[in-house]
Amino acid sequence: MGIFEFIGIVVFLYYLINIILWVVLDSDIELWLKERWGKPIDTLRGKVVWLTGASSGIGKQLAIELAKHHVRLCISARSGDRLQAVKEECLKQSKLLRPNDILVLKMDMLDISQHQRYFDTVVNHFGGLDILVNNAGRSQRASFEEIDLSVDRELFELDVFSIVNLTRIYVRHCKSRGHVAVTSSSVGLISVPNSASYTAAKHAIHGYFETLKLDHPTMDVTLFCPGPTHTEFLQHAFTGIHGQNYNQSVQATDRRMTAERCAVLMAIALANRCQINFVGPFPVPGLMYISCYYPNLRKIILMILGKSGLQKIRDTTAPAN
Ligand code: NDP
Repeated sequence: MGIFEFIGIVVFLYYLINIILWVVLDSDIELWLKERWGKPIDTLRGKVVWLTGASSGIGKQLAIELAKHHVRLCISARSGDRLQAVKEECLKQSKLLRPNDILVLKMDMLDISQHQRYFDTVVNHFGGLDILVNNAGRSQRASFEEIDLSVDRELFELDVFSIVNLTRIYVRHCKSRGHVAVTSSSVGLISVPNSASYTAAKHAIHGYFETLKLDHPTMDVTLFCPGPTHTEFLQHAFTGIHGQNYNQSVQATDRRMTAERCAVLMAIALANRCQINFVGPFPVPGLMYISCYYPNLRKIILMILGKSGLQKIRDTTAPAN
């Protein structure tokens, strides 16, 4: 066999293996490798992690997953009752954590003027903070032209500015040495129909956090991008009208990743200090790879799928509006 034939076969096998992995995996390849051969979640044992948006969905499951590995937690959100229930579940799942190891912090992320006070509360309670996980956020369903500018502002206030503000406080505190994570979304990397403000907000988050990594190379910055996940998020999603909630339930039959699985993958990303990962059920990982690395192929696939095809991947049973 000649050298060119050999190189041809290697390249062919490389792409073949990649395409097979895009189809069968529920995450990007890096995260799959880390899950098998990377640092286990247990390396986070004893660390202090602050999870915002921990009263439901991905944040709640991540709290439980981390508690199983005896991570000390601050769990925050607006609903104190739900946080208390999450704390009890965490204590049940961990044999080592004591009530004092899980701080319930009732907090509205939009209360920006109080962020420093909340931050001091956490640091004083634990004597430090190893990882800040910015998870609180709300999605959106509305056609581009229907969105009132007040909704763009309101959504950015929660999904971007509240996160940026809390993160700045953390960065000032840890002086380039800490670890900050954010639950972004697959829509932070590729655009989807029917969510212009939300897509823009998650893109903005990538801009902020990628620049943070450049400004402070010694800081660990994790951008975690889930695809469709089973949570309550469609009930609370913004629409195009100020003050209105989308109020739809995710159906059990929808093709979505479970919040539990999403939380395990996110915990692995944190333990391995990964920079950017995406997760989701088929065909999300493949679409993400194609969108990020093969823009011409992306155009062809988007033409074939069309707006309704993309919406179906995102919200299996949602009305196509
Ligand atoms: P949920 O609605 O289940 O959870 C959202 C969390 O954010 C809740 O704990 C909620 O608590 C909290 N929250 C909302 N508004 C505020 C606020 N003003 N102040 C403080 N906390 C707030 O949705 P998910 O678990 O799905 O969402 C978590 C993150 O995951 C979001 O950032 C979302 O964008 C992202 N994501 C979700 C996907 C999905 O398909 N589910 C896909 C991609 C990304 P409370 O109401 O008690 O304040």
